[in-house]
Order: sequence, then structure tokens, then C-alpha cells
Amino acid sequence: MNFPFAITPQTDDEKFMLEALKEAWKAFKADEVPVGAVLVKDQRIIARGYNQVEMLKDATAHAEMLCITAGESALTNWRLANTTLYCTIEPCSMCVGAMLLSRIPTIVWGAPDIRHGANGSWVDLLELTHPTHQIAVRRGVLQEQCAWLIKDFFQMQRKKKKQSDDHDAIEFILDDN
Ligand SMILES: [Zn+2]
Repeated sequence: MNFPFAITPQTDDEKFMLEALKEAWKAFKADEVPVGAVLVKDQRIIARGYNQVEMLKDATAHAEMLCITAGESALTNWRLANTTLYCTIEPCSMCVGAMLLSRIPTIVWGAPDIRHGANGSWVDLLELTHPTHQIAVRRGVLQEQCAWLIKDFFQMQRKKKKQSDDHDAIEFILDDN
């Protein structure tokens, strides 16, 4: 399977979101919900991450969490000053919490997450004034592509599930005979 998008980035935000999409594509190919993230400092990517919840059997192994941890290692500092985190999907409450704790100044996300999104879709943690740290947000960058990958993934999962359900039904019928 080849990366499905032929995009010529028009801005720096699109350039780095495209890299986050490539991370999401790694998740897609690994049968994980396709979410990707990259952390940028001084116009350079210093860390990458993609969703690995299934592989690591860990509900906290979100792309953003793995990317933040990798970024902290790269800088040998838990304070991610002067960085921008690009994530393909609106971050969840856990990931927004980690962004606040690691002092990320700016985040850019692609498509909303209607179930878990913590920047307006479910709750809006970033709209509230935090006593010590405020995160600037840009959203909707390459939204169409970020959302398409997720939709395509879940359509594929549903198809697979339907096939396996049919398969189970056939086995049941055979057993019954
Ligand atoms: Zn998350």
C-alpha cells in the first residue's frame, strides 16, 4: 500500500501536517486507528509518533503521547519550549493534558474527533484559561486528508467485521449440521 495523498504543501503548516499524515499512514498499515503526530522545533522535526494502542495494548499509546515522549528524549528536557506539535486529529483530553504539562506552546491539528476531541468537539480544554500555561491552536490544516484516512480505516474495519461475522455464521451452520 502506497501513501494515498499527492499533496504539494503551500505553507509550513501543511508541510509538517503532511509529515504527521505519513505517521498516520504507518498506523493505518499496522491496522491501528490512523492518527499521526510530529513535533517541530526551529523548523525541524525532532520527534514523530503514530497511534500504537493495539500493538502496545495500551490505551494511552496515542500518537501525540508517543511523540511528546520522543521529543522530551530528543531535547533531554520535559519542557518542550519553542516547539509546535502537529497532529492529524483533534487531541483527546489525555493528550491535551500532556501538552499542557510539557509546556508545548503551539499545536496544529487536522480533523475533529467527535467522540474524544478536547478542543471543542467533546469538551474544550484549550478554551479555558490555564493558570500557568496557554497553548495557541491552529486547526483544520489538511483537514480533508486527515479525516479521509480515518473514514477509510473505519469503513475497512466494518467490512472486515462483516466478513468475519458472515464467516462465523457459516461455521455455526456447519456445526449445527
Ligand atoms: Zn489522545
